[in-house]
Amino acid sequence: MGAIAFFDAKPYDREWFDRINKDFEIRYFEGRLRPENARLAEGCDAVCAFVNDELNSKTVEKLSEAGVKVILMRCAGYNNVSLRAAKEKGIRVLTVPAYSPYAVAEHAMGLILALNRKIPRAYIRTRDFNFSLVGLTGFDLHGKTAGVIGTGRIGRVFIDICRGFGMEVLAHDPKPSPDVPAEYVDREELFRRSDIISLHCPLTRDTRYIIDEGAIALMKKSALVVNTSRGQLIDTEALLSALNEKRIGGAALDVYEEESGLFFEDNSDKIVTDEVISLLVSRPNVLITSHQAFLTEEALRNIAEITLENYSDFIAGKELKNEVFVKDA
Ligand code: NAD
Repeated sequence: MGAIAFFDAKPYDREWFDRINKDFEIRYFEGRLRPENARLAEGCDAVCAFVNDELNSKTVEKLSEAGVKVILMRCAGYNNVSLRAAKEKGIRVLTVPAYSPYAVAEHAMGLILALNRKIPRAYIRTRDFNFSLVGLTGFDLHGKTAGVIGTGRIGRVFIDICRGFGMEVLAHDPKPSPDVPAEYVDREELFRRSDIISLHCPLTRDTRYIIDEGAIALMKKSALVVNTSRGQLIDTEALLSALNEKRIGGAALDVYEEESGLFFEDNSDKIVTDEVISLLVSRPNVLITSHQAFLTEEALRNIAEITLENYSDFIAGKELKNEVFVKDA
């Protein structure tokens, strides 16, 4: 039977993969996959990787030299994989396209509620017996307008949640769906009219910096920007300037364009030299979580099941329903 070199392994990954795996040898490595450590995969025909592993052409070349035949992404996105290099080396790339859209959409709404109603500030205050309400005023979501960019699996669940709160919903997607209960508009109109803008599209050449200086200039001064998709959807320096100059209301970020090497790790003992994240963290109208939107028990179980099923299908020579190709990038 085959063996899987599992990079960037965290205790919650191991717990679920060990619970579900019956058939394969899994070699867990704590480090992120990079060209420098790709040789650790020697003796394995598969690697299992996550969102911040570096699967660029150099890494893929090293993996190929190590004898790897398949890359099992245990996530939906694959923007960190050089599909071209994988194709050249005959390495197949499989993903987990959907594991729980509810996990991500619910986290996005959780961030909005926490940011708008200033729940983290209130929590810190009351732990110190400070029961003052000064500075904690939020706004009703009911009757406000949510702008949703990307109405795929997660975007749709998020739209349902917003409608449950009595919000109007605007949407933008190059492939609109007639059954989505939202008004499709162009990007500019969405930026102009929305009170909350939530990103649920993949990171592609088209969507990189979809929130840039120009987009922010169209937004309401009170608008909240929410990103639970990929960091590079936002030009973070432009966002920071807008926050500094009070040109937008706030930001809730589960992802950050320079998160690699920072997120998922405890850096509390270190000097973090990334000044952009340091400034963002210090703003009262910014809420950051460390790419945790996916982190529910249901999602972890589904990720482990589907990743291992992808590998079984590969080994059995079956049709690979979750394979991604260069044209998808
Ligand atoms: P999906 O493929 O079901 O939906 C994506 C939607 O985005 C599609 O409808 C697509 O047409 C649309 N889209 C593509 N280009 C667009 C553009 N230029 N403008 C607007 N819309 C565009 O994907 P999903 O399962 O809903 O996931 C969405 C994203 O969420 C993923 O790509 C991933 O980056 C992110 N994600 C984050 C986490 C997390 O933990 N934070 C977890 C899972 C997924």
